[in-house]
Amino acid sequence: MSAMFRITLPDGSVREVAPGSTPADVAAAIGPGLAKAAIAARIDGEVRDLSRPFDGDTHLALITAKDERDALELARHDYAHVMAEAVQHLFPGTEITFGPATEDGFYYDFAPKDRPFTEEDLPGIEAEMRRIIARDEPFTREVWTRQQLIDRWTQQGERFKAEWAAELPQGEELTIYRQGEWLDMCRGPHMPSTGRLDPNAFKLTRVSGAYWRGDQNNAMLSRIYGTGWLNKKQLDEHLFRLEEAAKRDHRKIGAEMDLFHLQPEAQGSVFWHPKGFILWRQLEAYMRRRLDAAGYDEVKTPQLMDARQWEQSGHWGKYRENMFVVPDEIPNTEDEGAVLSGDADLMALKPMNCPAHVLIFRQGIKSYRDLPIRMAEFGCCHRNEPHGALHGIMRVRQFTQDDAHIFVRQDQLVEEVQKFCELLDSAYRDLGFEDYAVKLALRPEKRFGTEEMWDQAEDELRQAVLASGLSDAIKAKFEELPGEGAFYAPKLEFHLTDAIGRTWQVGTIQSDRVLPERLDASYVGEDGNRHRPIMLHRAILGTFERFIGILIEHHAGRFPLWLAPVQAVVATIVSDADDYAQEVAAELRKAGLRVDTDLRNEKINYKVREHSLAKVPYLLVVGKREADEGTVAVRRLGSQGQEVVAVPDLVARLNAEATPPDLR
Ligand SMILES: [Zn+2]
Ligand SMILES: [Zn+2]
Repeated sequence: MSAMFRITLPDGSVREVAPGSTPADVAAAIGPGLAKAAIAARIDGEVRDLSRPFDGDTHLALITAKDERDALELARHDYAHVMAEAVQHLFPGTEITFGPATEDGFYYDFAPKDRPFTEEDLPGIEAEMRRIIARDEPFTREVWTRQQLIDRWTQQGERFKAEWAAELPQGEELTIYRQGEWLDMCRGPHMPSTGRLDPNAFKLTRVSGAYWRGDQNNAMLSRIYGTGWLNKKQLDEHLFRLEEAAKRDHRKIGAEMDLFHLQPEAQGSVFWHPKGFILWRQLEAYMRRRLDAAGYDEVKTPQLMDARQWEQSGHWGKYRENMFVVPDEIPNTEDEGAVLSGDADLMALKPMNCPAHVLIFRQGIKSYRDLPIRMAEFGCCHRNEPHGALHGIMRVRQFTQDDAHIFVRQDQLVEEVQKFCELLDSAYRDLGFEDYAVKLALRPEKRFGTEEMWDQAEDELRQAVLASGLSDAIKAKFEELPGEGAFYAPKLEFHLTDAIGRTWQVGTIQSDRVLPERLDASYVGEDGNRHRPIMLHRAILGTFERFIGILIEHHAGRFPLWLAPVQAVVATIVSDADDYAQEVAAELRKAGLRVDTDLRNEKINYKVREHSLAKVPYLLVVGKREADEGTVAVRRLGSQGQEVVAVPDLVARLNAEATPPDLR
């Protein structure tokens, strides 16, 4: 008789099961409710099928729809298989390739027999998918040999799958997943059956071309995208977000408000127009005031630095393909160090500010009493991104970070991180974001340093968040992300939730013990010896470009008055009021407000429509009567009707509203 396996459940209780038992058996033994709700199992951290037998003693957590992240990933992968079967059923002769889960759904790449798929094909495929879901076919896992796979694919005329199978390593356990007759090579895991998918929680969204294996020398495939969720409510919310997102697209609003443009002559770099740059300047001035008040020292460092410097910091080795390298065409021949690993006379545009800040830190001897040193720079950086990855001003090649590095002693670290969290919290609130999540990215698989170092570094960041003045609501959402830290340090990430429920990672703080070592930064301790400072890399906005993009989409261009590029337009009804309109505008400008006039000989409704589209917060309408009485008719963007106000009252009102939140 073989020994029983000991299965430890999340509550610490242990169940003994016979070899051959599965997580589904354990779920059934616990109760019929759980047996019905369970969709997969977490076995020592790895997600597996419910029906896959235990290998031995283990920790088991049953996954249900409540474990949303895992459940979505499973469902999306299931949808991909169901879609592939549907397509092959409806379009015989179509060959299958690959189809992974994506951030909001799934796709599958097909080699169609006659013609690429079009959006007209999608409703029919959706209907077929619903039939497969209704059949409630179990997803079953089978272990096959490589030869079995090759034979099967060849026999079926699946050239792409056969090619792939032939390249799989010998002797590895290869698996297929089957739903009825249809099967795919797949590592899984999957839910127990197609019937666990909600037939009304997915939608096929678009088709596109894609090359086999992403290589443009290969066959062009036809890719079908879908979005997939756990229930219809989630799908509807997602579709609503997409619709709203299209309306709020920063590229569209940026053009309507005349904020910026992009053009191929400077791929991935933004041309800021006067109005857009006002927004930038407001944001920059705000951040500068906050940093000044929080004890930061602002610096400015070179755009171009020698290749040797990047080699020493480690960027040349790991990061070179993302750097813009510039030949120094008039080299300094007296410089002995210039001949180095074939990279003589090369310089690079900085992709980050960190090394330059260490070089400033290293000027002069630092004592333990000088720390912490908080060195800030609105640093303009360049990174070479593939053109296809660029997106409006959200993803660019030239960007300006609200960067700072805090050099601290060990005993100051937790307090500094805590202060940073509080500064960031107040900045987000001032900028209109009440809701955000803090996440701690933990040690990755490949990493530098000892376990003790990681234990300590992770715990410091964790302690700092919990001890900080962040609200209970924010702390309650605190989450840890195993494996997501950088290879040299854990980090805290701050993810904003915008007005339509999308999340954006913007802020970050990372505790780094490696760069100070590589670039030999030190201070003299109380004991008279040299010590390494810890370097905190931190940003609140991330980059100005992307953050302004987020602000545009979050506010849909209706900025709070203090950020609005044009705060008011004085518009005339009749030309008799032109002089008066100029006087009102001058009065408001004297108070520091950003005001335009619109004296064109146009109907007032036309003017109202135009300035509404440009998202001007206040339209101040003046005619003969207003001129006689010293008033204006005030229309606030987005509200119906108007209110007649005396000019001094108007100045006071707008002035109060236009004061930046940190100065109120
Ligand atoms: Zn699969
Ligand atoms: Zn840095």
